Amino acid sequence: TSSDSSSLLKYSRNVTNGLGRITEGIMTSGKGSYVEYDDGRKMLDFTCGIGVTSLGHCHPKISKAAADQCMNIVHAQCSIAFHEPYLKLIKKLLPIMPDPSLDSFFFWNSGSEAVEASLKLARTVTGRQNIICMQGAYHGRTFGAMAVTRSKTIYSKGVAPLMPGVFTIPFPFWHQLGETPDLSESAQVSQCLYQLDLLLSQQTAPSDTAAIIIEPVLGEGGYVPAPTAFLKGLRAVCDKHGILLIIDEVQSGFSRTGKFFAIEYSGVRPDIMIMAKGLANGFPLSAVVSRTELTDKLTPGSMGGTYAGNAVSCAAACAVVDAMHEENVLSNVNARSAELFSALNAIKTAHPSHVLDVRGQGLMVAVEFASPAGPGAVHDAVAAPREAAVAAQMASRVAKKCIERGMLILTTSVYEVVRFIPPLNITKEDLKKGAEIFREAVEEVVR
Ligand code: PMP
Repeated sequence: TSSDSSSLLKYSRNVTNGLGRITEGIMTSGKGSYVEYDDGRKMLDFTCGIGVTSLGHCHPKISKAAADQCMNIVHAQCSIAFHEPYLKLIKKLLPIMPDPSLDSFFFWNSGSEAVEASLKLARTVTGRQNIICMQGAYHGRTFGAMAVTRSKTIYSKGVAPLMPGVFTIPFPFWHQLGETPDLSESAQVSQCLYQLDLLLSQQTAPSDTAAIIIEPVLGEGGYVPAPTAFLKGLRAVCDKHGILLIIDEVQSGFSRTGKFFAIEYSGVRPDIMIMAKGLANGFPLSAVVSRTELTDKLTPGSMGGTYAGNAVSCAAACAVVDAMHEENVLSNVNARSAELFSALNAIKTAHPSHVLDVRGQGLMVAVEFASPAGPGAVHDAVAAPREAAVAAQMASRVAKKCIERGMLILTTSVYEVVRFIPPLNITKEDLKKGAEIFREAVEEVVR
């Protein structure tokens, strides 16, 4: 009841200030594309809990699979014994891997842990130390993951030294090249590949370089799909020098972009791929997949974690993969994506001086607003809700208006970007409703 909630809310003062939050109150339930709060607010969820509940909240088959597993065994520790869902999940993942060479899995709880494991794997099997990452990248908030994160200083400010041996090249995103959205894709790609060449001859010798890590769609850096030519260029450099290509599909994977994995758009083969978020629709689970030939070089016991590959999470993930097939999720993503792009492009056409760019892939879509202040002035509403600066900013203001109108939505990056992460099985009606709420919010803010 709400009196319980209000007596509970006093304990929010005992929660660390290190967490940000975009809404007030207590979220009490979720069903499909909607969540409810203790005060009766019902919100359309265009965040999916940051790209996690991709098949909607409390999907009946996924919740049932988890509940059933709870009655069998919850914790069959992965260094003690296999459990059935662990191996069943591998059986279900193998046929959807973007390349048949990806045949060796290990599971973790979070995306960050899987990133850490991928870096450890790359260093171990190559015997090389250095890692190249992308400007604007987000790979997590643990120490190794933070070291390859380049999206916002807020994540690592004041906690250096981070893991050494990390080098950065620009991602083909006009902002990072000091350009406008009109700069041609091929010009962006050649500039970035040129920077990689320079880096490998000036700063980190190929024989010292273990891996290049990249998100196929730059996520927290602004929702920018990597051009195919860039990914192919990275693959060629990796092949030439024996460097491993790590593809971080934590946010872009599991049908989010209209293919099972975003890397499929390029046809590029990852040496290591990282998955999490949508993999288990809300149960903590992440995965690293690579080639047996590489992972055979690991010493047994060098990888692992108390909760890694939890049985309930793996059972949920099995149900996720089944549902993605049975419910034709990819075709819904592609149909709804076309509708979303068309609605957002209409808003751009109506407000050309305020809406700078509409971009993304599938249902991982962003709207960027014009920012007179420039990127340095922008703060993320999640990270720093109390910053007075937020109120002055376009993306945060629009997101706030959406929330007031009953739709959860997030901003991203140091630019003026609102990101759309609706459920992949959202109905045509709810998608339209969300786009309409966004249009009203934009109109209210620009008025
Ligand atoms: N990689 C990417 C691409 C992500 O988007 C995220 C989370 N936003 C992570 C890694 C880290 O995942 P987690 O928050 O589960 O540690």
